[in-house]
Amino acid sequence: MRCPNCGTLMNRHAEKPIKDPHVPEGEVIASIHYCPRCGKVEAELEPLLNSEINFRE
Ligand SMILES: [Zn+2]
Repeated sequence: MRCPNCGTLMNRHAEKPIKDPHVPEGEVIASIHYCPRCGKVEAELEPLLNSEINFRE
């Protein structure tokens, strides 16, 4: 995953479960990525189901 700000390859920082009301199970896994250059943090959802999920910071 590349940083949307500066294009630097981001480091995978952590994974954590988050609540999502659009998912029947109510929980999805978010991979947190950290940009070592500008400090941008992005969360990328692990697709557990075939549903579209919009994640907002
Ligand atoms: Zn960056």
